[in-house]
Amino acid sequence: MADWRRAGKTIALVPTMGALHPGHISLVRQAKENADKVVVSIFVNPTQFAPHEDLARYPRDEAGDLAKLSEAEADLVWSPSVDEMYPAVFSTSVKAGSAAADLEGAFRPHHFDGVATVCAKLFNQVTPDVAIFGEKDYQQLAVLRQLVDDLNMPLRLIAAPTVREKDGLALSSRNAYLSEKERAIAPALYATISEAAAQVAAGTPFTVITTDATAHLAEAGFTKVDYVEIRDAATLSAVVSPGKPLRILAAAWLGKTRLIDNIAAASPS
Ligand code: AMP
Repeated sequence: MADWRRAGKTIALVPTMGALHPGHISLVRQAKENADKVVVSIFVNPTQFAPHEDLARYPRDEAGDLAKLSEAEADLVWSPSVDEMYPAVFSTSVKAGSAAADLEGAFRPHHFDGVATVCAKLFNQVTPDVAIFGEKDYQQLAVLRQLVDDLNMPLRLIAAPTVREKDGLALSSRNAYLSEKERAIAPALYATISEAAAQVAAGTPFTVITTDATAHLAEAGFTKVDYVEIRDAATLSAVVSPGKPLRILAAAWLGKTRLIDNIAAASPS
């Protein structure tokens, strides 16, 4: 990387946890459009998982990932070990800002501190000019924008749109956990928030929309709905102003698998 810097090349970083799918590869494509060299990190970050979460069973496919990244013409793959990232002496961490306060933060209390810390480390290791993140993890994007702004990190974040299956299900490494029956139900998450976005545009009161959406997900077969929320798209604040772009965010369970998704919504005109 020092050679690239000396040669005046710009660098894009695409942080991932591996088990790569076409959503990740779309980020690599965006990275190539925005920098001379593309570094993809693969690191299943233990500090962003709670003890009861799926760290141990998180899907891993090193050979497949390397083949896909070679095909996508990434320039460098950075896949550090847990010991390299968190040696025994490691003791400093980043506390995520206000964007982490609720939604995912309410259900995964230390998740965004882990995300902010590992991203700060990756940014310092790779020194990218830009880093690409998916809108699939919309709140993560908001948290990382705050991280970069608040700590004056010298890089630009770029958001990439969510890549979906034909039936609307957002691609996710965690979709591999779904049984055939659960997979058949899963597209109802995107269908439900899409319908909610149409209701927002039609001027339906937010509480009616979120209550209906929650009931609809349960009827479709989701076993638990953590939230369906309509927020200010920039701040994720629950207090929204007329005319400001909105974002509908949802999280729901299919058995042991937790799915999240989100969609843009326009305020009623
Ligand atoms: P992960 O490996 O799940 O941590 O995701 C790594 C990056 O890929 C994050 O910036 C995600 O938001 C992004 N990503 C995950 N799924 C998708 C998708 N379906 N479309 C676009 N980006 C995605």
